[in-house]
Amino acid sequence: MKHCMECGNTLHRTTVDGKERLRCAACGWVHWEDPKLAVAVIVSRDSRVLLGRRGQGERQGLWSFPAGFVDRGEKIEDAAVREVREETGLEVLLGPLFMLRSETGEPVVLAVYSATPGEKAPVPSRELSELRWFDPGNLPPMAFEHDAVVLAAWSERRRGDR
Ligand SMILES: [Zn+2]
Repeated sequence: MKHCMECGNTLHRTTVDGKERLRCAACGWVHWEDPKLAVAVIVSRDSRVLLGRRGQGERQGLWSFPAGFVDRGEKIEDAAVREVREETGLEVLLGPLFMLRSETGEPVVLAVYSATPGEKAPVPSRELSELRWFDPGNLPPMAFEHDAVVLAAWSERRRGDR
């Protein structure tokens, strides 16, 4: 971002509230860099989880669960249901929030839900080459480091529930 959203003048790097940010010298507008909210969904059936294999782009061939960014103004639970529908064709019954993950210096905050699908077979979206059910104790190569962490916590919780 180079220009002020209010008046169009040039933005300058300066310290505002103890952190370097872009500010407009003409009107004082500050570009606040907000966190970005993403949602991920653990869809499970018979204690196996549904993972999709990325068919294109970065991390192609690696696996992950249905996930994506929440639109501004979109209810987060709706975003979770939407992402599962878009990536797998399944309508799911969403459980409560399972985990909220954030890291220092990381702009993305991840909200993880668990969900149960109906009887339908999942159908991969165009971005995915494959969808498959996995035992969380025997995972394929995962796309993101936090995927395995989230699934380990999920398995741990399920063992505790029994
Ligand atoms: Zn300005």
